[in-house]
Amino acid sequence: MTTPTESPAVRRLDDWDAVDLSALLDDYGSPLYVLDLERVRENAGRVRTAFSGAEILYAVKANALGDVLETLRDEGVGLECASAGEVKRALAASGSGADVHYTAVNPPARDLDWVVDAWEDHPDLTITVGAEDTIDRLEERGYDGRLCLRVNPGIGAGHHEKVQTGANAKFGVPAERAVDVLTDAAERGFDVVGIHAHVGSGVSSDQLDDHREFVSRMGDLAREVSTAVGGLEFVDVGGGFGVPYREDEEPLDLEAVADATREAIGEIDATLTIEPGRYVVADAGVLLTEVNTVKEARDTLAVGVDAGMTTLLRPAMYDAYHPIRNLTADSSTTDGNGGHTSRETRPQTVTGPICESGDVFCTDRRLPASERGDVLAIGNAGAYGYEMANQYNSRPRPASVVLEGDAVRLARRRETFDDVTRLETEASAPETGTGSDGNADTDADREAHNDHDTR
Ligand SMILES: *Cc1c(COP(=O)(O)O)cnc(C)c1O
Repeated sequence: MTTPTESPAVRRLDDWDAVDLSALLDDYGSPLYVLDLERVRENAGRVRTAFSGAEILYAVKANALGDVLETLRDEGVGLECASAGEVKRALAASGSGADVHYTAVNPPARDLDWVVDAWEDHPDLTITVGAEDTIDRLEERGYDGRLCLRVNPGIGAGHHEKVQTGANAKFGVPAERAVDVLTDAAERGFDVVGIHAHVGSGVSSDQLDDHREFVSRMGDLAREVSTAVGGLEFVDVGGGFGVPYREDEEPLDLEAVADATREAIGEIDATLTIEPGRYVVADAGVLLTEVNTVKEARDTLAVGVDAGMTTLLRPAMYDAYHPIRNLTADSSTTDGNGGHTSRETRPQTVTGPICESGDVFCTDRRLPASERGDVLAIGNAGAYGYEMANQYNSRPRPASVVLEGDAVRLARRRETFDDVTRLETEASAPETGTGSDGNADTDADREAHNDHDTR
């Protein structure tokens, strides 16, 4: 177990060793995702210390790599899943359904089929539903296991400005309906265990009032529901703990968030549950990429690299800021570790190889003047990095390596061009006999391939 003293609140891109990272790129090729499992442990350890007594579920969608899930199970952290595919990975890492939650958002029939099937072997898994339809659909499948209700807390005006109302309506049952819905579910034989909400938009130190308001509503609701259904096991207030992406941004004061959470929720006869995703993995990962083109553009130096929006989507999708460092320039300094290069700095626009104008990692950012062949590191790439990678432009996804102490391991190989066309090739191959297609793992998987099923 990691103690907070060994574990700074943030690991900055400058804290990584430039020489060691560059060596990884030499060994494994470019672009390359690197994830430090020790840092994942440290982050989980800080969450556990701050929120002592709370149940911690890691939101798998931030980074679903098996090594991450196994590391976190080892640290006593449970797993929060957004799809049947994630439940499958969580059960593989966990071996048991205890501490595995499936939060079903408009769940496709094949997801429900698969999870209900898995529940028969893992009766202690928990399903969180965000619509009465989902309860009906579970009942139709014979599910009467652990049920949690996701509510839409409809929280304060200040918050609403940042959250699209339309998108918001998608998540959860309006909080004022929760007692009725859960009373009914309990009467129908479901094992009602909790209530849940994930507000989503990032808990930050200067938004603690919004967080308090939200959590206190959850506390009130928990007391009401508890009386109605005869007790709850947990109250889940979701994730969204922010990390500093900008070099000058302060890290989140996790102790302050934990104190505010405990105080706001009030007296509850239930476990407090939280679901951090980003916070656990973001600063444990970097993306390495090689410069292949440097040209003087009209107002900036345009720098082309071999990673793009298909490798790391956040800048293109959210205008997200990620720190960028020139490892080759930094390696030529004596310590190779955040030391400053003698290269002059210039405003640069770093762009990828995808035919889209949004394929840009930064615009006019001051960096040491790039040269062809330099290795750049893009920081805070551990969360929502590889998970959002895709094959647009028929571009194979990169490899991922994990670090654990001094050990380095290839955790996921680089895709090949054949991987990009594999499904097409299989589709045009002659049909083989039933059950030998090598894809469907279970009968449920096979049945779930029916696309017209809207149950
Ligand atoms: C995405 C998600 C989280 C984690 O969000 P982070 O911002 O990564 O902490 C937690 N709970 C649910 C239900 C989610 O969908």
